[in-house]
Order: sequence, then C-alpha cells, then structure tokens
Amino acid sequence: MENKSAGNWIRNIIVQEEIDKYLVNGKDFIDSNEIFTKLTNNINPSKERVREILQKSLSVKTLAPDETAALLNVTSPEIWEEIFHTALEVKKKVYDNRIVFFAPLYCSNLCVNNCAYCGFREANDQEIRRILTFDEIKLETVSVLKEGHKRLILVFGEHYRSDVDYMAAAVKAVYSVSEIAAQSGRPSSIRRVNINAAPMEIAKLRILKGAGIGTYQVFQETYHPQTYHDVHPQNTLKGNYRWRLYALHRAMESGIDDVAIGALFGLYDWRFEVMGLLYHTLDLERHFGVGPHTISFPRMTPASGSKLSSDSPWNVSDDDFMKLVAVLRLSVPTAGMIVTAREKASIKKAVIQLGCTQTDASTRIGIGAYSDQKRETDLDTSQFTIGDPRDLDQVIQEVAKMGFIASFCTAGYRCGRTGETIMGMLSHCDEGKFCKLNAVLTFREYLSDYASDETRQIGESLIMKEIGEIESMDYFKNKPHLLHKFRAEYSEILGGKRDLFL
Ligand code: SAM
Ligand code: SF4
Repeated sequence: MENKSAGNWIRNIIVQEEIDKYLVNGKDFIDSNEIFTKLTNNINPSKERVREILQKSLSVKTLAPDETAALLNVTSPEIWEEIFHTALEVKKKVYDNRIVFFAPLYCSNLCVNNCAYCGFREANDQEIRRILTFDEIKLETVSVLKEGHKRLILVFGEHYRSDVDYMAAAVKAVYSVSEIAAQSGRPSSIRRVNINAAPMEIAKLRILKGAGIGTYQVFQETYHPQTYHDVHPQNTLKGNYRWRLYALHRAMESGIDDVAIGALFGLYDWRFEVMGLLYHTLDLERHFGVGPHTISFPRMTPASGSKLSSDSPWNVSDDDFMKLVAVLRLSVPTAGMIVTAREKASIKKAVIQLGCTQTDASTRIGIGAYSDQKRETDLDTSQFTIGDPRDLDQVIQEVAKMGFIASFCTAGYRCGRTGETIMGMLSHCDEGKFCKLNAVLTFREYLSDYASDETRQIGESLIMKEIGEIESMDYFKNKPHLLHKFRAEYSEILGGKRDLFL
C-alpha cells in the first residue's frame, strides 16, 4: 500500500512546463564549456585588473563571469590578502558589522532519493527513520527558544509524508509556540521560519508562501551536469538536474521573493561551483530583477553509510575554502552569506572575517535532537557531521569579541522589505543601516533574556559603542524621526517590552 501511494506521488512531482518556460532556445543557464573557457581565458590577471574588479564590488555591483573567473585565477598570496581584506570591506558596506543567527530544525529524514553523499538517502539502512509529529515540532521549538533563537530553518527529506501540507503545518506549529525567557520572564517566539526542502511546483510553493515562510532554500549541490548525474541516480526525483536548477525561479514566481541558493562543495571543482553560483544569480536577476537573498557554500562532511562523503577527490582544503568564500562575497555583494556548523569553530571564525552575514549555533541535526539533547556523535540519526557544536551564547560571545553584533532581526521580512525592495536597499547600502538599528534592538533583547554574565558584559560594551556610532552617523542625523524611534524602542526593551523594530 505504502509503495503504491509513494509511486503515484513521485510521478506527479515534476511539472515539465515549469522547467521549459525558463529555458532559452531549449538551453539552461549553465553552459559547462563556457565556464571552462572563462576560467582558462582569465588566468594570471594583473594586479591592476584585480584592483578594478575589487572596486566594482565595492560599488555593490554583481560581477560579470569573466571578472569572477579572474579572481578565481589569482595566484599571488599578496593579491589574495587584498581580496580577503576587500571582501570584509564589501560586507561592512552592505551589511555593516552584524551577524544574523538562526538554528536549523530537522523535521524528517524520510527520503525517496539516493544522493551519494547524504546520510538520509533511501538506501542507507544505517539510518533510523523518523518524522516529527507537530507536537514534537513544538517541543523542538521550545528547546531552541530556550537558547534565545528567533529564526529557524526547517529541513526535510523528500517524501510523500513530508510533502507541502506537512511542511505548511510544521511552519504553523513553530509559529504557534510561545515560551517564557527564564532570566527575564519575557515571552519569546520564533519570528521567521525559513525552509530547506526539495524543489516543488509553483502551486505548492504558494502554499508555503501562505504559511508565512521567510526564505526558501534549495542547494543545487553541483552545477556540473555530469557530476550531478553521477551522484544523483537517474531513477530518482533528485536525478532531474533542471527541475532543481529552476526551483528558485518557480519560488520567485510563486511570490516567495527571498530565495537562497547554494552548492555542496566537495562534489566537483570548487572554482566551477563558484561560477555556477554566479550564473544562477545572474539568471535570477535577468528573470526577476533580483538575485538570491543568501548564498550557502556547505562543505561535504562525513555522513553515515556514504563513502563519497569521506573520500571525494574534490574535497576543498581550508585555504581554498577561504578563497571561495571571499570570491563569492565579492561576486554578489548584495547576497547574505551563510556559514554553518558543518565547519569547525576556527574556520567559522575565519570566514566571518571574510564577509559572512549569517550563521547557526547550538545546532543539532538529529531528528528530535533538540528535545532529546542528543549530541551529534550519534551518526545514525544524523545527515552529516557537525564541526561546531557550541551553544548560541558561546558563538555570540566570540563574534562580539570580534566586534560583530549578533542580530535576530526579522523586521525586513515583516515590514515588506524583501525581494527587490531589500536588494535595492542593500545595493544603495540603506538596508545595512536600518538593520544596524534592529540588530541593536534584538541584541539588547538577547542580552537581557538569555546571555551569560560574561556575554552580557562584553555585549553591553559593544552595544554602547554601536549606539555611539549610530548617533554620530550623518545618515541618521538626516532622519531624526528614525533615531528618535530607535531611542524610544531601546528604552522600552530595557523596560521589559519585546519584539519592537523599525
Ligand atoms: N532533501 C532536501 C534536498 O535535498 O534539497 C533538503 C534537505 S538536505 C537534508 C539539505 C542539504 O544538506 C542538501 O541540500 C545538501 O547540500 C546538504 N548535505 C547533504 N549531505 C551532506 C554532507 N554529507 N555534508 C554536508 N552537507 C550535506
Ligand atoms: Fe534526501 Fe536531500 Fe539527503 Fe538527497 S540531500 S538524500 S534529497 S535529504
């Protein structure tokens, strides 16, 4: 019975017209030969050319493929230093000094696919399968709220039991939870739920939009068609490269205008994947006038029962990882950049200094692991291996010492500053300033409600410095109403009010 309904469900997932409509003369936007040619035509760029490209990034413009290819071909350590330095400068210009925090919530590891690198794949009989009930999802939400999180990304395998209706109900379950912060007695709830799930047809994406999701995230895994086919068996849903390639075009069309792209680094040449992410950005910009809300660049880590995940010939070294993060930062200046707990703490710290804007903390990827408090040494319920198991307070303290404000801001999404609006503001460097205010307000909430004494002390002196900066910025001097509202809301938060934003 189960097999029969699964078979029917699988047959109805892919809607061919929702691929074909985006093709140009029957071709998609990834032309491997063109990418290889760009990479070979741009070897040994001169220092002057690299500096011109860096200036273009600093003026917050998406780079052209030849420009990104040139950066990827730099060999001089001295020029790489300039690239690293400029990457952080671009980030500060667009996003200021804030780091947005979130937690992933794995809802189900049931999956009909057989991706060679993933512990959730159907053929992996070492994996204990579990799909959370909505009450269990609420319990998981309580656990992450107790840490101080305000933003979640829900993650699902691809399966008829976790289809869009389950996802929409899961989103509603998360939003329904309210928890009291132990330190202050103030109420807290999740303010933005994002989704990482398989590609869907537009009608289903509208259901997710209706459930109130923020960002919809789909990683292409690899943009290299042959590798894609090698690691995703052709008799599975995920075997369809183009269905995945246009997942976010469909999301845009459904009205979800914050879309998140990514590649799983370690499946193929990292330079090719960076070019793929750029071409993806350019095609979204061409169709919808706006690029991705965020870019992710997970590195493959060992997964239960997956040989490839431990011994891929394309595994990316730490040095190359730093380079790819910096080049992505410069290539798409307006995109948020997400580094996750797949990376060790030291690497996370290093790439935050290269312009990452978001990270997770207190991450558990086992199904139900937040409430079970299982540690991720427990591979049988995990999709891959965690490199940074630190809790939220520890990571926030570390970034505060580096001068970065932890932000839980969800104001953009709740005030309609999404999609084209937010990307326009980012390119004029206005959103960064708005978010500076909201970052301070949400950091203040965190310090009062959840922080350890040490983090509070470090955080409060950072906030004071930040407020001093805000008060002296011409941008705000010319907008006294904003400054006035900010001061009033900051005082109200100190007085016990919550969830105030601009
Ligand atoms: N099933 C959905 C899909 O494939 O799009 C979403 C969930 S999947 C659990 C989320 C992401 O985890 C994948 O897109 C992939 O990039 C990443 N992932 C899978 N195996 C991994 C591994 N061994 N190491 C690091 N990341 C991995
Ligand atoms: Fe399933 Fe996604 Fe894992 Fe592939 S990456 S096996 S689709 S959960």
